[in-house]
Amino acid sequence: MLSFADNTPADAALDLTATIARDLIRFDTTNYGEGRSNGETDAAEYVEANLRSLGLAPQLFDSEPGRTSVVVRVPGRDSSRGALVVHGHLDVVPADPEAWSVDPFAGVIKDGLLWGRGAVDMKNMDAMMLASLQNILGSGQEPARELIVAFFADEEAGGVLGSHYLVDTRPELFHGATEAISEVGGYSITLGGRRAYLLQTGEKALIWIKLVARGEAAHGSRLIRSNAVTRLAEAVAKVGRREWPIRLTETTTQLLAELARVLDVDPQRVGPDELALATGTASGFIQASLRTTTNPTVLHAGYKHNVIPDRAEALIDIRTLPGDEDSVLAEVAALVGPDIEIVIMHRDIGLETEFGGPLVDAVVETLGRHDPGAPVLPYLLSAGTDNKALSTLGIKGYGFAPLKLPADLDFPAMFHGVDERVPLDALVFGRQVLTDLLSNY
Ligand SMILES: [Zn+2]
Repeated sequence: MLSFADNTPADAALDLTATIARDLIRFDTTNYGEGRSNGETDAAEYVEANLRSLGLAPQLFDSEPGRTSVVVRVPGRDSSRGALVVHGHLDVVPADPEAWSVDPFAGVIKDGLLWGRGAVDMKNMDAMMLASLQNILGSGQEPARELIVAFFADEEAGGVLGSHYLVDTRPELFHGATEAISEVGGYSITLGGRRAYLLQTGEKALIWIKLVARGEAAHGSRLIRSNAVTRLAEAVAKVGRREWPIRLTETTTQLLAELARVLDVDPQRVGPDELALATGTASGFIQASLRTTTNPTVLHAGYKHNVIPDRAEALIDIRTLPGDEDSVLAEVAALVGPDIEIVIMHRDIGLETEFGGPLVDAVVETLGRHDPGAPVLPYLLSAGTDNKALSTLGIKGYGFAPLKLPADLDFPAMFHGVDERVPLDALVFGRQVLTDLLSNY
């Protein structure tokens, strides 16, 4: 039997959002990538039970055994409006407990924050979604428009077994939807001592490649010039050290103009990188949105100290600006040279949506009610979300998981970082803003 919250006495003071997020963190849904995962089924069944308790009829979908997504429709008051997809993912990236100051899967509450893998990416938003539905449905109300609420598996491995699986095999689940909101946007940053919010209106494209170097297998004492490890190391260094030029898109042009306005600097005199750096911790997100990045992330080679292997492999995480995928791939191929084989493991499109229209207006108005006077700025996410899969059905996706954050929290560092944590009062804020948006948009 599943319980929604572990009702220890201290929980009385905890908002429902925090208890749900903590419960979700305690399901270790680690997704190791390359097909290895702990699976999402336990977390999905918890979400299912929570939704059923609200009188809803969620459906569970397994792309593979253990790889479970949950989708539910919530009727809205006005059937003439397009449905809104509100989605989160249930998987998390691995956490090395040695590097953490707390157990990453214990759901520790300490110093006014909830700690754990997924506290930010993105069991926080999963919990805000469920708690907001509790607010609306629990008080006998309905959302303004129909909602399609989805909790996907496998986002951290590109969504192949989650959002892409459902979009490809069960597109009718999203029938009638025009827009979507999800993670990595809606959080606050501090600009020159003033709070502002970033609304994600675009995402870079991703290409995950494997570099394969081949050479002569031999005894480690031999004179061998065709050493696969050496060849691979040279290629990896070239790709990793490549400084990709800044290219501004519509979103980043608009963001930089807004940053200059809020910071009261002359954009003609302050370059894009400098402006990004002036945003403090937010620059961790913004600088990477101004150019392509090609980061080596995994190396595989060798099996014995005195054996030269005939093969060495590296994984490179490439994030290009929308539309630049093929030109970047060609340049990477030229950089590593003809002796290195490039295998494309996974690729997905970039997205860019205008910073305007009814949903953006609703988001700006809603934030204005809960944090008056704080500007809302568009930004291009340097990573990707399940909005990529939904976009193939013509659904426009935004990143809006609202959090009002303290200036001293390095929020970008929380994503896939050590000691991932979120302030409890930010979760309460998120629940209130999301409830307001879903009730009125
Ligand atoms: Zn995420």
